[in-house]
Amino acid sequence: MVAAVKDILRQSVDVAIVGGGIVGCSTAWHLAQKNLSVAVFERGRVASEQSSRAWGFIRQQGRNEAEVPLAAEANEIWIELSRRFGAASTEFVQGGILVPAETEKDEERVVDGHEVARRFGLATTILNSAGIEELLPEINGRWRSGLYTPGDAHGNPLLSTQTIADAARAAGAKIYENTPVYSVERSAGRPNSVMTADGRCEAKAIVLANGIGAPILAAPLGHKLPIQIVKSSVGRTVPAAPFTKVAMWGPNVAFRPGLDGRFTLGNGYRGVGVDYEMTVDSLRGLSHFLPAYRNNWRLLRLTLGPDFFHQLYARTSRAAAVKALPEPRPNERKVLSNLESFRELFPHLGTIALETMWAGRLDMTPDVIPIIDRPRADEDLFIAAGFSGHGFALGPAIGKQLSEWITEGSPSLDLTPFRLARFREGIVHKPQKAL
Ligand SMILES: Cc1cc2nc3c(=O)[nH]c(=O)nc-3n(C[C@H](O)[C@H](O)[C@H](O)COP(=O)(O)OP(=O)(O)OC[C@H]3O[C@@H](n4cnc5c(N)ncnc54)[C@H](O)[C@@H]3O)c2cc1C
Repeated sequence: MVAAVKDILRQSVDVAIVGGGIVGCSTAWHLAQKNLSVAVFERGRVASEQSSRAWGFIRQQGRNEAEVPLAAEANEIWIELSRRFGAASTEFVQGGILVPAETEKDEERVVDGHEVARRFGLATTILNSAGIEELLPEINGRWRSGLYTPGDAHGNPLLSTQTIADAARAAGAKIYENTPVYSVERSAGRPNSVMTADGRCEAKAIVLANGIGAPILAAPLGHKLPIQIVKSSVGRTVPAAPFTKVAMWGPNVAFRPGLDGRFTLGNGYRGVGVDYEMTVDSLRGLSHFLPAYRNNWRLLRLTLGPDFFHQLYARTSRAAAVKALPEPRPNERKVLSNLESFRELFPHLGTIALETMWAGRLDMTPDVIPIIDRPRADEDLFIAAGFSGHGFALGPAIGKQLSEWITEGSPSLDLTPFRLARFREGIVHKPQKAL
């Protein structure tokens, strides 16, 4: 339900949140449960950008160390969400995630992932080829080993985000859809209101949880967010008779089995193959991104497309600057090659067909971990963006952490690795070998 426009004009809330993706909605949900008045402003509909495009992996394994405690906390909240609102509300399935290795080079990923899991006490094992066959008897291929975490899970991104948004509303939060935020305004030197398409909303605290739109709002406040946009394409098959609950990130294709027998297909880890559309802002923060580009240049496809012209137009007004980018076109060739790899993995599915495909824009940081910060201790402006392809799984925990930070003065987990200043300080985490 779209809240009435006139509500905004007389609003003064405890917390205004920009962005109705999983991060914004989770934050609203946690804050509203603490009896704070909360308004979420979303330029489209809830989950209209990244949070409806994701594959749906909810993994703890194979992460940058800094993210592991957040991923573990998120897993607990995912279980609780499923318990409270029913399995159909999230399609959360704790079926485990498998990362199998075919070659010696692939195996480095398995060994590294296991080492991090061991340090953090995750129940992650290395399966040998017999173990993989036992887990997934239908799988074809010659596997050396595989990283497997039975507690890892997957879910439906759109449904889950809508469920969390509904939970936030039920707890008292207001979510204003089709309401872009043009700017965060200061008074007495502090950010204390957001200017929306329908009027101003004053707030004691403001959260920027607006994904690829965050840099535009943060820049006038003096915060340069080194976030670049890349595109990734996804396919979904027609339904098949369900045969596994395991989600897998393989060398050539990733898949998530849906409850309805459809498989969501993404890029494998060897040829991650994201598309990078050059824009006028591409040079922003380029120096931070050079190491990541150097590690991944083979996997990037550089193009000049509609986003370039959209950004030129965006310079004409504030309203144009915060307008959603045009619907991204999926890279059909990549999606079809993923389908081919999926068919090779499971010959018993024959020539299973694709039902649909889509693309999504990701907010990448140079070190592929997010920015979660209150950049100035004397201001109640919080930033949670740049999730670099990891934010669906982490979203519920980010909401909890931000709600603690806002109400209690500090989060219960150590979020310092995610501070914005790391880019200025030069303490940037090693970029991963795959975007
Ligand atoms: C193809 C693909 C596959 C992925 N797979 C996975 C996966 O398997 N597991 C995983 O954990 N993550 C995955 N991700 C990443 C995950 O989807 C994101 O990290 C996560 O959804 C980010 O949530 P968010 O709320 O920060 O951003 P978003 O969902 O992008 O939400 C931000 C919202 O802010 C709104 N907005 C922007 N600017 C403004 C403004 N000025 N005013 C008002 N509203 C504004 C946007 O419309 C948007 O709805 C994937 C992403 C893609 C694209």
